[in-house]
Amino acid sequence: MASIFTKIISGEIPCYKVAETTDFLAFLDINPNAKGHTLCIPKKEENKIFDLDENEYVELMKFSRKVAKGIEKVIDCKRVGMTVIGLEVPHVHVHLIPLTTMEDARFINKQNLSPEDFKNIATQISEAI
Ligand code: 5GP
Repeated sequence: MASIFTKIISGEIPCYKVAETTDFLAFLDINPNAKGHTLCIPKKEENKIFDLDENEYVELMKFSRKVAKGIEKVIDCKRVGMTVIGLEVPHVHVHLIPLTTMEDARFINKQNLSPEDFKNIATQISEAI
């Protein structure tokens, strides 16, 4: 069965898109730790990040770096943190999380954003990349 992220790639499920290439997609996490929390995924469905081949892994990191630089430009934070978990969604994704305190790196306190907030944040990051 297609992963929820594959359904986002196909457009079956909507997302707040931040960046896209032939092989990768970046979109806002729907339940963000912090404003600007973004997920970067390969379009090829793979469960675990270290099962990507070396080139795919490096290209995902290069894509994530570009997106992180965009986030840093427009989201007020001390730095952008990078986390890979994958316990909820078995489709490789890199979490890019704007960090101000260590709490932002924990997946406990969540931000409540309106659809308008999500739209504005995605547009701002997208234009900064
Ligand atoms: P993980 O698999 O790394 O534990 O977490 C998966 C992440 O994907 C979570 O932060 C969760 O909020 C996010 N997520 C799950 N389903 C969706 C979805 O349908 N859309 C978006 N944008 N994010 C999702």
